[in-house]
Amino acid sequence: MDTALQRRLIESLAGAMLEHVEELSELDRAIGDGDHGLNMQRGFNAVLGQIDELAAKSPPDALKAIGTTLLMKVGGASGPLYGTLFMTLGKEWPATVDGVGLARALGAAIAALQRLGKSEVGQKTMLDVLVPVQQELAAGGPGLPARLRERAAAAAAATTPLRALRGRASFLGERSIGHIDPGARSSMLMIDAVCRTLEG
Ligand code: ADP
Ligand code: MG
Repeated sequence: MDTALQRRLIESLAGAMLEHVEELSELDRAIGDGDHGLNMQRGFNAVLGQIDELAAKSPPDALKAIGTTLLMKVGGASGPLYGTLFMTLGKEWPATVDGVGLARALGAAIAALQRLGKSEVGQKTMLDVLVPVQQELAAGGPGLPARLRERAAAAAAATTPLRALRGRASFLGERSIGHIDPGARSSMLMIDAVCRTLEG
C-alpha cells in the first residue's frame, strides 16, 4: 500500500474517534461510566502523534503498532479489546490483500478479541458490529466499502434493544435496554471512516 493512502486511512480512523468524543462518552454515561469517548481520544491522540512512523511502516507493522498504542493508552475494557483487535489484524495480515484474505484476518482478530473478552454476538458489545461486518466482507462481491458501512450502521443501531451481558453495562441488567452500546458505536465509526477513505 502507498504511504499516502496508509496515512489517510490512519488519519481518518483517528479523526472519526476525535470528532465523536462527546457522543461516545454520552452513550457510555447512559449505560456505563461515561469515559468511552475520552478513552478513545487518549488512544487515538497517541496514534496521531506517531503518524509519520506509522505511515512509513508496512501495513501489518502499522496495525501492530496501533494495537500496542491502544493497549497502552486507552483505559478501560475497550483498550485491551481494541488493542488485541488491531495487533491480531497485523499478525494475520494476508500476503495477498483481497476480500477473502482481509475477511480471514479480521475473523482471526475478532476471535482473539472474543477470547479476551469472553464474549459473543448478542451481548451488546462492539462484537455486535464487528462480526456482521466481517461476514459482509467474507461474502465478497461488488460495492463492498459502501455495503460494509451500511451493515455497520444497521448493526450498531440494532444494539439498542439488546440487554448488556458483558462489561459495565451488564451491571444495569434490564436498564441497559434502549441505548446504543458505546463500543458498537465506536466500531461503526471506525469502519465508516476507513470505508469512506477507500471509496475516495
Ligand atoms: P469501560 O467499560 O471499562 O469503561 P469503555 O467505556 O472504554 O471501557 O468501553 C466500553 C465498551 O467496551 C462497551 O460499550 C462494549 O462495547 C465493550 N466491551 C466491554 N466489555 C466487553 C467484552 N467483554 N467483550 C467485548 N466488548 C466489551
Ligand atoms: Mg466506560
